[in-house]
Amino acid sequence: MSSRPSTRTIDYVGRFAPSPTGPLHFGSLVAAVGSFADALHCGGTWLVRIDDVDQTRTIPGMAQTILRQLEYFGFRWSQVPVQQSARKDLYLEIIEKLFTQDHAFGCRCTRQDVLAAGIRGAAGLVYPGTCRDHQLAPDSYRTIRIKTGSAPIRFNDRIAGELVQNLSHDVGDFVIKRADGYAAYQIAVVIDDHLDHVTDVVRGADLLASTPRQIHLQHLLGYATPRYAHLPLVVDSGGRKLSKHDRDRPVEMDQALHSLVAAWQFLGQKIPQQQFVDVEEFWSFAARHWSIKKAPATGHYFESAETQKP
Ligand code: GLU
Repeated sequence: MSSRPSTRTIDYVGRFAPSPTGPLHFGSLVAAVGSFADALHCGGTWLVRIDDVDQTRTIPGMAQTILRQLEYFGFRWSQVPVQQSARKDLYLEIIEKLFTQDHAFGCRCTRQDVLAAGIRGAAGLVYPGTCRDHQLAPDSYRTIRIKTGSAPIRFNDRIAGELVQNLSHDVGDFVIKRADGYAAYQIAVVIDDHLDHVTDVVRGADLLASTPRQIHLQHLLGYATPRYAHLPLVVDSGGRKLSKHDRDRPVEMDQALHSLVAAWQFLGQKIPQQQFVDVEEFWSFAARHWSIKKAPATGHYFESAETQKP
């Protein structure tokens, strides 16, 4: 396992948090490159966290495969990677605390119920508030939802710019404890970023719409809000985000340099005239030349297979 003790003291801790649902593909490589390059350029520390809170989607052994891929591509992280699964009891304790403080409530609605209510906001389906005031007995609810308010949540994304969302209007009260008993991604990621002292979240734009929910939870829990930067998404020819569990083509180990350069260019960054000799040389260039301002603000058409051609 690759690790390099950090001697840096600068106030920058970045992270890459892959879900072990499949090997890295070009889309996740782009997120990893943007996040690592930003940390290197800022002289910060960079962590890898295995987002395996959703045990139903986790593929055994996949975390090791992803770490091997990252290492081969020249990524270097500062601590032994954290596995979310090791924190699952802690997530549940914090959810319980929010519940007893009346920030959360038990809900018996299914996804079909929410769908049937037919309310849509900017971020998709909106929970209609059905169980919010019912104080259901523990044996009669399926999930726990956090209460949202109508005060606008504002943040300044380093790529997307100033954004604002009204959570109660656009999302509604959202699930923090799922029907299968696991903590939901939205709260697990907030607790993790807090525990890992993350100052800078650089990740794919598919999570842009989740950010106000995460900021709301940070406010309730008294946690600091990190800086956010959402990178453009790689989509296939049908405009669909590449995803690991769809078995999109994994990045080829024998074309590491080629894929790194393709990811770098996808992120709007310039490459030098002469070719890189190896991945180390690429990263030393990337550390000096990364400019987050050059990253395009929206996803655009990008054919994944093209990036794999030598
Ligand atoms: N685990 C998420 C993914 O693989 C990323 C979570 C995050 O960066 O907040 O898409």
